[in-house]
Amino acid sequence: MSNKSELDALNQQIAVCKKCILHKSRVKAVPGVGPETADIMFIGEAPGFHENQRGLPFVGAAGKFLDELLDKIGLRREDVFIANVVKCRPPGNRDPQPDEIEACRPYLDQQIKLIQPKMIITLGRFSMARYFPSAKISQIHGKPRKMEGVIYYPMYHPAAALHQPSLRRTVEEDVLRIPELLVQIDEMTESKRPEQAQQLSLF
Ligand code: URA
Ligand code: SF4
Repeated sequence: MSNKSELDALNQQIAVCKKCILHKSRVKAVPGVGPETADIMFIGEAPGFHENQRGLPFVGAAGKFLDELLDKIGLRREDVFIANVVKCRPPGNRDPQPDEIEACRPYLDQQIKLIQPKMIITLGRFSMARYFPSAKISQIHGKPRKMEGVIYYPMYHPAAALHQPSLRRTVEEDVLRIPELLVQIDEMTESKRPEQAQQLSLF
């Protein structure tokens, strides 16, 4: 099976999944969207009101801001893959609970395995915690870390910037670093020279 059809099959499983309590209150599951060839994958938290209605990620206010951010670096939504830590909306937009995140984890794991992005950008605390469980977002946002050939780049959640205007600038600055990081990965992949890899300005 091609990666595209494996992703489609995964989406169908997610649409009818009942592995956690969130299935009871959902309208539509929100598996994620984007090309299976995407170099960049954004991982948010959970669907909100509008996402739950439409079955698509980041289509509400936070999504509009995400589109603006992508536009600043010449990317369109169709260029990237966008997913969430949990695929169904927590009632009233409450935080996803640890057991729900755990139940949903294999879907995101499988998406990452199929897409093999060069860069994984975590939006907010819950997706950051997948990779940096004890980190504080205020300390590590905007600092890339390379592990096994993939760059992990934690950012604040765009919704946080909408609620807290002082964060807006920070989120914008963090987004503006993405192109430079992508170029560094490409150079590294092309040369495959370890001494060049070490020149990456990663923490
Ligand atoms: N916030 C998220 O984390 N994900 C969405 O899909 C929408 C809003
Ligand atoms: Fe299944 Fe994830 Fe939805 Fe829970 S949140 S019902 S694990 S798809």
